Parts: sequence; C-alpha cells; structure tokens
Amino acid sequence: MVSRFLYLIITITLITSCNLNRKDKEITKIAATVKNIEKPKLSNSIEPTKMKNLDIDYCMGRFDPKTHLDFVAIPLKYADREGMYMRADAYASFEKMYSEAAKEGIKFQIRSAARNFNYQKGIWERKWTGATKLSDGTDVSKDISEPVNKALKILEYSSMPGTSRHHWGTDIDLNAFNNEYFEKGEGKKLYDWLVKNGSTYGFCQPYTQKGPQRPDGYNEEKWHWSYQPISQEITEYAEQNMKNEMITDFLGAETAVEIDVVNKYILGINHGCRH
Ligand SMILES: [Zn+2]
Repeated sequence: MVSRFLYLIITITLITSCNLNRKDKEITKIAATVKNIEKPKLSNSIEPTKMKNLDIDYCMGRFDPKTHLDFVAIPLKYADREGMYMRADAYASFEKMYSEAAKEGIKFQIRSAARNFNYQKGIWERKWTGATKLSDGTDVSKDISEPVNKALKILEYSSMPGTSRHHWGTDIDLNAFNNEYFEKGEGKKLYDWLVKNGSTYGFCQPYTQKGPQRPDGYNEEKWHWSYQPISQEITEYAEQNMKNEMITDFLGAETAVEIDVVNKYILGINHGCRH
C-alpha cells in the first residue's frame, strides 16, 4: 500500500516537472520573440499616449491650467517661483529626470511652464506696443513700422497667442533664457546632459539650430524642452486642424496669414521631436 502510494507521488512529481520544463521552454521562446520585436520609436520605454479631450481650445491655450484636471502646480523646489503649472504626465517624467541629473550634480530650474492664450497675449502685446523691449534691445513699436516685419522680429523668440507650445503644458524653459549660458561651465554640463539623456525621460529640444534641417521657425532655444510623448500628438493635431485664419484676437494678428504661422512656426520644429 505504502509503496503504491510512493509510486503515485513520484509519478505526479515527474509529470508536473515535465510540464514545468515545457512551460519554461515556452516562456524562454516567448521572451526571445519579444526581444526581437522592434522597439518603440522613442529611444526609451515611454510611448506616446493617446490624449483625451484634445481639441482646438486646448491646442490654442484657451483654458486655465490652474483648474484643468490634467495639470499640476510645480513645487518651488523645481522652479524659480510659485504658481507655475504643467501637465501631470510631463511633470512626473520631469521629476524622475531631475533626480537622476541631481546625482551628477546637475540642477534643473523651471523658469516657465504652461502659459495660456491670455498670458501669451500679454507677452506678445507688451512687445508689440513697445512696453517691453526685445532681448536684443529692439523696441518693435519705434524701430519697425511694417506690421509683418514687426511680427517677424517678435517671432524670433516669442509665439503669437494661440500658437505656443507652452499652451500645451508639455513644454518648459530651463535655467536661463540665453543660449550662451548653455555653451560653457555649469550650463554646458546641464545642456550636454539633456542632449544625451533627455530622451530617456521623453524630453526633446524643439527649437534647435536653424539651417537646412530646420529652415523655418523660432531661433534656437537651448532652454526650451518638450515632453514628446504628449506634445508629438498635439503637434500632429495642430498640423491637421490649425489654420492661420484661426489666429486672431490680439494686436498684429492680421499678419498671421501672410507669415504662414502654422507651417513656419508651429510646425517649424526639430524633426527629432516629431518621430
Ligand atoms: Zn519656451
């Protein structure tokens, strides 16, 4: 009786281990197949997410980031002042990037984040009326008379209301608003780190050096970084849905059609931020 029982136990154990072996083999086979599947387009594990509630009002910044459910307030630890907002998904990735960079002695500081239509209208109109001079000292209201030229001068570094990537909550300006800062010392270290590692966290630089690769759009901005898993989708949405005629309701808006702001500026970005 006992030996029969033992025989049964041994048989069951053998069958089970055989099955396990087979399962193990299957798992190894599946793992090998998974390994061979092409990696997502982004150079990291972050894949573009399908955004909910993407419409023209969102794309053009006609909402308040303070009350929008997808946005969070940026803690002072990461910013130069309180009261800035960005998308929660972009923020979560920024936080991870911040702590990784901090291990190498690099400290990011957000200088600007989400700006809605009205905020951008304030920036644009202060420049248009000469209340604020441009960074090179130009007073657009006195130094330039022709409206299209006035707009083109402001467009070197600032967006028309309704066309800024800062509307989207995906884009941030880091540390300093001048390219020279990022060309030596601390700034260079920070910029080189971003160029090398930013994509791991989904961040890309939309306004790279202008030239054959990027003939149109804003001048180079080494401080402006974009959370591509979301902004790529909004860029595609803008390409399909934005028309120059929609760009209205601020001083100088009548120049948008002639300048072709949608194609030259909204879409005039580094191709690396689109693929
Ligand atoms: Zn910016």
